[in-house]
Amino acid sequence: MTSLGQLVRVGAGRFGVLVVVAAVVVAGCGGAERPELVGPDVAPADELGRGDAGATPDTTDAVDPAAATSSFADSGSSFVTTDETTVESSTTVVEGELQPVEGGVNAIVTPTGVLAAVLGRIDDGYLIETPCGFQAAIAWGQPLTTVDVMLDPGHGGDEEGAVAESGLTEASINMKVVRRAAALLTDRGISTALTRSGDYRMPIVQRAGLADALQAKALVSIHHNTPKAADSTIPGTEVYVQSTSAEARRLGGLVYERLVSDLAQFDVSWVARTDAGVLTVLNDEGEDAYGINRRPSTPSALVEVGYLANPAEADLFATDDYVAVAAQAIAEGIEAFLSTSAAGSGFVETPRSFNPSGATGGQSDCVDPALN
Ligand SMILES: [Zn+2]
Repeated sequence: MTSLGQLVRVGAGRFGVLVVVAAVVVAGCGGAERPELVGPDVAPADELGRGDAGATPDTTDAVDPAAATSSFADSGSSFVTTDETTVESSTTVVEGELQPVEGGVNAIVTPTGVLAAVLGRIDDGYLIETPCGFQAAIAWGQPLTTVDVMLDPGHGGDEEGAVAESGLTEASINMKVVRRAAALLTDRGISTALTRSGDYRMPIVQRAGLADALQAKALVSIHHNTPKAADSTIPGTEVYVQSTSAEARRLGGLVYERLVSDLAQFDVSWVARTDAGVLTVLNDEGEDAYGINRRPSTPSALVEVGYLANPAEADLFATDDYVAVAAQAIAEGIEAFLSTSAAGSGFVETPRSFNPSGATGGQSDCVDPALN
């Protein structure tokens, strides 16, 4: 139950001596057992990217994040969370040269299924950026060079997002839909990674950074909405796209049109805002209001599939049928974005004005999941 937690790099130049001080995070009483990793074997770092000059890891075959994380399905609380952890003072010193990473490895999936950007090689493995944005040394993992699609299940850990009257949390339903969509995309030969693979906290800057680090062609963040909205005969799906990217607009339009069309098969009392559709949302500075749109250079769309605050919709979202239909629509929209020049539809030309308040999506008090 021991894991490398928060780490701090001390006085290390890019090629200088590296000293990593680790705080060891230990699960407390009744802490969740760490699930066993399934999927492709994880090779020790020594077997990754060394020797065999010129061999570039085949991302599609060698790395299957959906498979690597599939053992976590339906166990949204498998990872150590804030409530279940204590931090013991313990120091681990790792010394070595920080080296460039061979073979174009930009991220790794750790043995616990956590995707992390790679900052460099060290003697004992990799220096990575943790989900909370700290630096950590890790001995092994599955290397990734690029992915076609980065899927982002919104919220996680102590930021559970919207909560339905039934108790269903947004973070958990976001994850179910994303996992299913990732599996569908992978089946179609489209390499896909998840920004987070379990129920842990992850600041927006790290989510956006992973998409850029892996040169994704699309970043799609999945959410379920909470504010009040009026009764509607069609789903109140909203998709927020980058105001500066025609490709993001097309991505959003293609996902939106399939979602609204496919969700309409469910006989539910929907709710919607009057300007529901594919939107740009701008703050008072004229920038994209949401960090997942504003931060990455990867074309990005934030999808609010429906309203968890509406009990009728929340009951639907708890069903397997819903997860299957929503995931299928999202995967088809993304595939159309990658493989056609179709424009999509549902665009609302007047930007919505919004100035986010509150501190969700940041690094403060962030606790990393187990990495090893
Ligand atoms: Zn959300």
